[in-house]
Amino acid sequence: MIRAIVFDVDGTMAETEELHRRAFNAAFAEFGLGWFWDPPTYARLLQTTGGRERISAYASSLSAKVDAPPIHRRKTEIYNQTIRDGGIELRPGIAALVDRARALGLDLAIGTTTSRANVVSLLDVTLGAGSASLFASIRTGEDVSAKKPDPEVYHLVLADLGLRGAECLCIEDSRNGLLAALAAGMRTVVTPSLYTANDDFTGASLIVTNLSELRSWSASRPETSTCLQPDNLTNFLAGLPA
Ligand SMILES: [Mg+2]
Repeated sequence: MIRAIVFDVDGTMAETEELHRRAFNAAFAEFGLGWFWDPPTYARLLQTTGGRERISAYASSLSAKVDAPPIHRRKTEIYNQTIRDGGIELRPGIAALVDRARALGLDLAIGTTTSRANVVSLLDVTLGAGSASLFASIRTGEDVSAKKPDPEVYHLVLADLGLRGAECLCIEDSRNGLLAALAAGMRTVVTPSLYTANDDFTGASLIVTNLSELRSWSASRPETSTCLQPDNLTNFLAGLPA
């Protein structure tokens, strides 16, 4: 029985990666690095999870020496300002899934590689000020020593919730995230995002273009297939393959 829905953030709750990419480039310009990450470059660099780690990996590939933490801190400031200026919205179906899960009494949680400040900013401007409190557990990049695909962040979430992986449904957008969720024992719905459309999602319980497709999950009972009614979500959760 599913008792909680656990969300990844970047790419899953919102298409944040383009904002991240632009914030990295703005920070690089301020630091006078002469670096510019275009979309194909950024797609490749996303194989390294964690922004600070991504900066260090890129510097190593150029045999350059940089002090990654201050660059990354500035990038995070720029990113958060953009978010708070209203430069983002949730992907289709996310807000409805949050509402329906709450109506069913399911716990909500977040397990992400990004920083807590980024998560809180996003939730504040999309689900409303203080909406981080809707989530029983929020675990972020600061909480772990190994980032996805390592399952550490999801193990922390499960410990917070007091649940086993089998009692949670995870929503992810990338192969690294899927591998982390599966390693924590969670069944996972994948909603591929701009930068992950070509990832290998072997092991996912379901792959949907976006979560508003939940309406098709009760196709066998068309009378209940209105998008994201609580019954619909119950049926879907009950019908998840083991
Ligand atoms: Mg993601």
